[in-house]
Amino acid sequence: MIVVMKPGATKEQVQHVIDLVHDYGLKDHPIYGTDRTVVACIGDKRSVDKGAIENAPMVEKIVPILAPYKMASLEVKKEVTQIAIGPGQFKIGGTKVGIIAGPCAVESAEQIATVAASVKEAGCVGLRGGAYKPRTSPYSFQGMGLDGLKILAQAREETGLAVVTEVIGLEQVDAVAEYSDVLQIGARNMQHYPLLEAVGKTNKPVLLKRGMSATLDEFLLAAEYIINAGNPNVILCERGVRTYEKYVRNTLPLSVIPALRDRTHLPIVIDPSHGTGHAYMVPSMCLAAVAAGADGLIVECHPDPEHAASDGAQSITPQVLTELMDKLRRVAQAVDRDL
Ligand code: PEP
Ligand code: MN
Repeated sequence: MIVVMKPGATKEQVQHVIDLVHDYGLKDHPIYGTDRTVVACIGDKRSVDKGAIENAPMVEKIVPILAPYKMASLEVKKEVTQIAIGPGQFKIGGTKVGIIAGPCAVESAEQIATVAASVKEAGCVGLRGGAYKPRTSPYSFQGMGLDGLKILAQAREETGLAVVTEVIGLEQVDAVAEYSDVLQIGARNMQHYPLLEAVGKTNKPVLLKRGMSATLDEFLLAAEYIINAGNPNVILCERGVRTYEKYVRNTLPLSVIPALRDRTHLPIVIDPSHGTGHAYMVPSMCLAAVAAGADGLIVECHPDPEHAASDGAQSITPQVLTELMDKLRRVAQAVDRDL
């Protein structure tokens, strides 16, 4: 971080800033120009209240230099982190792109058994499905809870797929960690810090979704929070952001893939289902995401989307998924990956 002084700042005013910098446990490195003075600050700035320094007399602005997150940043680790998931220990972040598919919500044992068999058959590595559902309206279906988790665990027994399911409350963390392989933190909970801390204390990988209005820095700081709590296995998931557009449910910014790759070593998964809201758009966005370098996809797939309890409009059928996998493999190979 660099403190830029206004032109004409006196020696005393610069010294005052240097004293403040010391108070925050940082080292100062002042650079005296002809026109103005800047004070470079060296050390860990995460606990520094930038506003307090900005308030000092004759300070013009504070310019951050290093990313505010550390553990999640490329500054601490250059190679992409590989995170092994489920019974097959498939490595998300490795050469192969991991495809996770399944319904928005667990609705019944039959529904999950049917879809899990298709998802496995199609060549996916993970099964998704919410047992606890954060809904836009509190009057919508809230999920099957513990029974849903047991149904997912049964499907893992039968297929060997890694189970990815959402945890929406602190009181569910233990149960979700017991029955599933990857704990999903939903977009609405990205900044629910006690929940991030709780999943950070488990030994299961976490799939962290970006909040629908969160900046990349906020997203990475949330990931950092989980890592700091003790869990280094954080998978980042882009699921679209809220814009004024009406032709999609959310706008899916695939440019986050290169942007994140430039800032973090954590693996990147794209959710084109919530990212578009429409089943017909999902295959194209899956292909584009893999072409752009995604390490994985999480896709909503339902055997009977017309009767889905939630998110039917954005759920593809097992048949579409199967056809898509073949194309995805070819796109992956074109960018030196595979499925
Ligand atoms: C989901 O995955 O079904 C879900 C609720 O996602 P999001 O948190 O991205 O809205
Ligand atoms: Mn959904």
